[in-house]
Amino acid sequence: MLAWFSINARDLPWRRTRDPYAIWVSEIMLQQTQVKTVIPYWNRWMRELTTIEAVAKARSDKIHKLWEGLGYYTRARNLQKAARQIMEKHSVKSKPRRRRGNESQIKRKSETPHVVSYKFPDNFDDILALPGIGRYTAGAICSIAFNQPTPILDGNVIRVLTRLFGIRKNPREEKTNAQLWRLAQELVEHAAASPFICRRRRKESHSISISSQRLLTSSPTCAHFNQSLMELGALVCTPRNPQCEICPVKMLCVAFREGRVGELPNLGKREAATARRFIAFVVERNGRFLVRQRPAGAVNAHLWEFPNVEINPSLCSSPAKRDQSAHYSRKKSQSRLTSAATVQEHDREIIRAAQILGLEPCDVKPFCTVKHSITRYRITLEAFCVHLGRTSYTSPYPKGAKSGTRITRPSENNEVWLPLAKLNLLALPSAHRKILQKLDAKTT
Ligand code: SF4
Repeated sequence: MLAWFSINARDLPWRRTRDPYAIWVSEIMLQQTQVKTVIPYWNRWMRELTTIEAVAKARSDKIHKLWEGLGYYTRARNLQKAARQIMEKHSVKSKPRRRRGNESQIKRKSETPHVVSYKFPDNFDDILALPGIGRYTAGAICSIAFNQPTPILDGNVIRVLTRLFGIRKNPREEKTNAQLWRLAQELVEHAAASPFICRRRRKESHSISISSQRLLTSSPTCAHFNQSLMELGALVCTPRNPQCEICPVKMLCVAFREGRVGELPNLGKREAATARRFIAFVVERNGRFLVRQRPAGAVNAHLWEFPNVEINPSLCSSPAKRDQSAHYSRKKSQSRLTSAATVQEHDREIIRAAQILGLEPCDVKPFCTVKHSITRYRITLEAFCVHLGRTSYTSPYPKGAKSGTRITRPSENNEVWLPLAKLNLLALPSAHRKILQKLDAKTT
């Protein structure tokens, strides 16, 4: 595996460093996210926030803007919480620097403050105690940054191990999961205790490049072994069409030998995707657009969005589909009548959504439809343009006011009216960013 990794490892920016901060950021970004998506985000983050201290002191809007589009924004907030915790709990006091100077200065030596610095913890338990870090991430940081024999078990490693050892049971079950962790532990410990494997391989492998040989000899074995497992799962032992013919461990692989590669891992039945539908309004008044910030604790907390409401997902959506349904509804079959009823119900939903948001739906025009998936949700977001006069917006959440009270803009409760240029500076969830991009394209 080490020899294979030395030749086949992808050249990823976080693999060019042993800095635990850089590796930690990459591991958090890589959770639920593909490598090619993460690369530009990681580069930008490391350029903007070069140290843990910079993360700890960064403004929340900067953190969210740097994470915009990666999703699962709790990860970014936890990174900042953890950075602050490191500054607080893992500070290192260095001795005060001796001053040169006259006697009065020397007398005040005891008053000279200690220089306070901080250090990324290098102990598994301390790393695990940081917000947003679980067993996998703590193991990855310990092994990759500090070359410690700590196991890792992510989706790629689960796939490799279940196939390699022919494990038939569902890896999500507690017992099987514990078995996989044990295997991962034994393997990395074995790698740590077997440096001779590298030397022998080097002698045998005439075809290995000089840089690869250097990587083998100076190899931080635990770091490379754990990464080789993940890399094998990402490049060779893939969920569909694994390339067993070129796999470095095919001679040992139970699933390959028994012809059961396609059956493993046995992840049981997938939960069916749930459809969700939202209506959003791009409300414009005097060249400014209404946006609101999502509250703490909600999904996509602290991000900005166009006002929107969730509606019945079974109603038909796109203007084209609605026109089609309306066209068919003019004919007289029962099903066509049903289509007409659905169209009417959909239009009523738009009016209701506008009313919930305190908008007078006098001039509502379809704008665009954005589709995307988050975890098990298939989300459709229909956006409509609303042009308002001066006093036609009623806040749904007027602070201390009775329901229906009209208030003057800009309103309270994290709602603001902004010109397009300023909207672009905010962090928005991907779907709302797409609406904004369309709006940008339309107005330029
Ligand atoms: Fe995966 Fe095939 Fe290699 Fe087995 S032989 S570990 S199934 S790629």
